[in-house]
Amino acid sequence: VNTSYDRIKEVDDQVQAFLTLDEENARNQAKELDSTTDTENYRLFGIPTGIKDNMVTKGLRTTCGSQFLRNFDDPLYNATVVSKLDREKAITIGKLNMDEFAMGSSNENSSYAPTRNPWNTDYVPGGSSGGSAAAVAAGEVLFSLGSDTGGSIRQPAAFCGVVGMKPTYGRVSRFGLVAFASSLDQIGPVTRNVEDNARVLEVISGHDEMDSTSVDIEVPSFTSSLTGDVKGLKIAVPKEYLAEGVAPEVKESVLNALKTYESLGAEWEEVSLPHSKYAVATYYLLASSEASANLARFDGVRYGVRSEKATNMLDMFKMSRSEGFGDEVKRRIMLGTFALSSGYYDAYYKKAQQVRTLIKNDFDSIFEQYDVVIGPTTPTPAFKVGEKVDDPLTMYANDILTIPVNLAGVPGISIPCGFSEKGLPLGLQIIGKHFDEQTIYRTAHAFE
Ligand code: GLN
Repeated sequence: VNTSYDRIKEVDDQVQAFLTLDEENARNQAKELDSTTDTENYRLFGIPTGIKDNMVTKGLRTTCGSQFLRNFDDPLYNATVVSKLDREKAITIGKLNMDEFAMGSSNENSSYAPTRNPWNTDYVPGGSSGGSAAAVAAGEVLFSLGSDTGGSIRQPAAFCGVVGMKPTYGRVSRFGLVAFASSLDQIGPVTRNVEDNARVLEVISGHDEMDSTSVDIEVPSFTSSLTGDVKGLKIAVPKEYLAEGVAPEVKESVLNALKTYESLGAEWEEVSLPHSKYAVATYYLLASSEASANLARFDGVRYGVRSEKATNMLDMFKMSRSEGFGDEVKRRIMLGTFALSSGYYDAYYKKAQQVRTLIKNDFDSIFEQYDVVIGPTTPTPAFKVGEKVDDPLTMYANDILTIPVNLAGVPGISIPCGFSEKGLPLGLQIIGKHFDEQTIYRTAHAFE
């Protein structure tokens, strides 16, 4: 814990990964643990961690990267994942920066300060869990939690050279995760290596009565699947994942990884995910629709900041929302309410749901014959701060390789896979069957 805070003091002025620190509390907890003797009864004993700021932490400010919640200082309960970490004696160092309400791919939509990529602070760390990835990459904490609705764990993990897992939808409880798009959101660990990742996922997984979408299915020992053995593993490589738009250096790093797998006795073949070209459009309709409903609760009454200018109730709602939300959040709310409005619902929302099923079916049919799908996590390495900020559509297109995984509900990991010419990390994405995180971890670990 001391080392964590020393490191934060050393680098966080530049990295800006943390929004809130919990120093006094964390040091006290650590002191208490110093005198504990049954250390082996706890799976994360004394391990310093950071939590993305969209997970509720009892008594610790939770802002979602938004000015709207800048005064949400004293949440009354812990998210289930936070309680689970507490039970295993992990120590929360603080809350991590993010794009406002998890909407973004670069952390530039944080309404506090943009997190920077620790490998080169001229570049973005990715988003929306940019703080979670940067804090681990910069050595500020040993692991962190992020959330992934359309790539927000895997893309920043790729940009920052760390390991980020989006589990199967339903594997981890979302209770206490501020909802963005409820049918897509999933919490997962960010770590420096695959083994740590498997350990943390073992702790945070499992059915939770407080989240009706968490699935009542056994949590296997993910760590015991790290055998190093991938002989006979069947890998599918979608041609759409190495197509035009994917940078040559990214493609090359994936082909090199596939060579490594061949040398370890795995086999790979090219396949097709024919509907993946519709994934970005489908995602932005569905995610924005769900967001517009979820964010209706921010009205200046129940949480956060209330506009001081309003003189009647309706103005209070309107002005609090106008002042509290940033531009990207407003853009999504407008797109979502439009797509859900009567007369347009069938043409947009319903159609997008139908296409979502086609995308899921693409994965299902590949997984009848293959164990994992492998491709890049992102089409390019990290881009420069400011480079895409005025062009939302280009920013959205960056998520093309991660979004299909959320739409299908399957698990996916990003692991480090070399460096670009400019010395920025590249990510390899490994996607598995529903509830088969074990095979993903085994495949990822063998490559490490
Ligand atoms: N970048 C995507 C978006 O802006 C994904 C965000 C996420 O996964 N939370 O919606």
